[in-house]
Amino acid sequence: MTELKELYPVGEQPPLGYVPPKMYAWLVRPERFGEPMKAWQVEEIDTPEPADDEVLVYVMAAGVNYNNVWAGLGIPVDVIGARNKAGEPERFHIGGSDASGIVYKVGKDVTHLKVGDEVVIHCGAWSRDDPWVKAGEDPMYSSTFRIWGYETNWGSFAQFTKVQAHQCLPRPQHLTWEQAAAYMLVGATAYRMLYGWAEHALRQDDIVLIWGGAGGLGSMAIQIVKAAGGKAIAVVSEDDKFDYCMNLGAVGCINRKNFDHWGMLPHWKDTVGYNQWLKGVRSFGKAIWDVLGERKSPRIVFEHPGETTIPTSIFVCDTGGTVVICAGTTGYNATVDLRYLWMRQKRLQGSHFANDDQAKGFNDLVLAGKADPCMSRAFTWDELPYSHQLMYENKHPFGNMAILIGAPDFGLGKNIPEPAGLTTIEPTAEIRERDGFYRAPLHPVDEVKVKEPAAEDTRLVREMMHYGVIASSTATPVDEVAQRMSEYGVHAIVVVDAEGYAVGVVSQTDVVLARQGRSLEELSRLTAGAIMSQHVVSCTPETTISDAVTLMTRNRIHRLVVADTRSGRPWPVGVLSMTDIITYGMRTAPIGASSMSLPPSALATDIYEPMVPEPSLADLGFLEDSTLVSDVMHHGVVTSLRNASVMDAAKQMLEYGIHAVVVVGDDGHAVGVVSQTDVVLARQGRTVEQAATLSVGDIMTPSLVSCTADRKLSEAITLMTRNRVHRLVVVEDKAGKLMPVGILSMTDVIRQFFSRN
Ligand code: NAP
Repeated sequence: MTELKELYPVGEQPPLGYVPPKMYAWLVRPERFGEPMKAWQVEEIDTPEPADDEVLVYVMAAGVNYNNVWAGLGIPVDVIGARNKAGEPERFHIGGSDASGIVYKVGKDVTHLKVGDEVVIHCGAWSRDDPWVKAGEDPMYSSTFRIWGYETNWGSFAQFTKVQAHQCLPRPQHLTWEQAAAYMLVGATAYRMLYGWAEHALRQDDIVLIWGGAGGLGSMAIQIVKAAGGKAIAVVSEDDKFDYCMNLGAVGCINRKNFDHWGMLPHWKDTVGYNQWLKGVRSFGKAIWDVLGERKSPRIVFEHPGETTIPTSIFVCDTGGTVVICAGTTGYNATVDLRYLWMRQKRLQGSHFANDDQAKGFNDLVLAGKADPCMSRAFTWDELPYSHQLMYENKHPFGNMAILIGAPDFGLGKNIPEPAGLTTIEPTAEIRERDGFYRAPLHPVDEVKVKEPAAEDTRLVREMMHYGVIASSTATPVDEVAQRMSEYGVHAIVVVDAEGYAVGVVSQTDVVLARQGRSLEELSRLTAGAIMSQHVVSCTPETTISDAVTLMTRNRIHRLVVADTRSGRPWPVGVLSMTDIITYGMRTAPIGASSMSLPPSALATDIYEPMVPEPSLADLGFLEDSTLVSDVMHHGVVTSLRNASVMDAAKQMLEYGIHAVVVVGDDGHAVGVVSQTDVVLARQGRTVEQAATLSVGDIMTPSLVSCTADRKLSEAITLMTRNRVHRLVVVEDKAGKLMPVGILSMTDVIRQFFSRN
């Protein structure tokens, strides 16, 4: 008889049914939150005991998902702290939300599993005692729903995992252990997206547009559509992914790099920009028809990129069709032209993971050989942090990845031949850096509030604002408004009535858009009152700084009008800008030797309205199409390395009087941008010490709103208005890498407005 051990080396399987009291596990602890290579460490811990409705599974292989990059970082939520708050004592997290393995112990209420069963595990966990679940409703709507191995502890990155019995499904015997561990999270998610929404459940002959066809979710979606007799059209970013998607069963592919209308919608008032966008999206729609060989639109659009693609998805979706979405990988503020949504009665449907039936639905497709796990690369036990580090750095191969846990070698566990007609997919293990890619955590648990020094919570706008505003009346001609902006270096002018109360705001964008698409004669008749926004985003001097910051970020602006409202109407007394907040808000004392901001002074009640020279309307002709970005831009860019501290970036902004810093890689190519807003938000809800530990890479926006110097100025303006930004990074494309060479700002555009005076 073999001697039973207290702890087994990784790769040595204990006798079936014997659960050693100790096990090895890859753990995250709060004191080492950070990049995967630092956060994840092997420790020896007590093997957990399954509850009555649970089983203990000896893990053979685990899947890799981005959630456990987030868990290791401890952002946006500290999953350990959240669980401790909910009463769980463990001060560690064992991740892993995909697995294949063997049942070693069953809880007393488990009837459909026995020791020795080989299983794959889906990551949907919920309380069987929840009345909603008991009533037979979809447990995905239960408030007790949790993602196992992210929101719950005891995931698959350990010799044993503790799961609810209903999470286990039969393991396909024609797959290796690592292949079997790679597909369930993405496969079941794709299955619910395509079958979970009754009116729009996938049908034979349906046309389905699939974003990221060569990615984890997309590769599963193509196979599900093919199995249903539908027509999957895959969108990818390189032609060399076409074959991969076609082998999976796509009827055609589109390279999204052939189009450039991505991102938020142009404002509907921006007729020039909107028409350009329409041209772009129509040519994308035509590409769908070309693939199909007929003028038909997709009944289902399979979405996850989010912010950059939603406007297109809604537009190309068929009348009465659906856009179903499970992530916002490129950002969450998707814009929708509601006219298409209501007139053509389309649906925008959110979807999240899957219930037992849907996980089984997908597993049945794999068992029948109708879906391949598309495993691109498998890693050894020791490489677990490395596999996540690759993901963290956006350098992981496309498709799905897995890690050997209990399986002693690659390629084991394949016990029967593949089913007839199986789609076999060659792995695509090549590593490519992905630009502009942001991963949302699957399902953030409630944020644990970081304790803030009470004194800072109470800081008020009046302590940091500038006193005095640049104003105009409703009758002031637009060109004069523009001249004032340029002269005083402000980005917006408050419009006041005869008594001095604020009635609107004219921004630089309003002025530039007033010129776009208008003749000079038309422009000469425009006044501030005609182009102003009547909605003055304002606060009072007594508003707290954190409320003021939220007001700005919600409205995508960098400064607020501060108004005295004691009389019941807004009397503008000053302005609070992001620069002011960085100057006075990052520390208790200002950071940086110089600052753009004036020190706070006594409350002023008068409006600062300087006299300006009369501009000539005849000079407005510069915005002809022949003007190029290179004619107007500033040369030179202030840059920062990814690992620089947030405090350094804040200092750079103040020293150079700029609103954003371009983040560059080692060879100088642009990898992202950190704006004043990013810096201010990094400080919100954190202590100064916590904010100081963040690096530029942690808070940057990885997508860069940029253009080349040879672009037409009018196109660059539209790019700014669509992305709600006031400046563009001007880049040179060097062998596919974007090297920053300058900046084009709305201020430059307005200055150019008057440069021929
Ligand atoms: P993935 O394997 O990295 O694939 C994502 C694909 O998106 C990439 O292959 C890429 O393809 C495409 N893409 C990237 N940037 C794009 C852009 N700007 N526009 C259009 N397409 C773009 O990731 P995944 O496993 O499929 O997961 C995708 C997202 O879904 C992630 O955010 C993930 O966290 C989330 N997710 C959510 C759930 C849920 O239950 N809610 C479940 C699983 C995954 P090309 O570059 O070739 O176009």
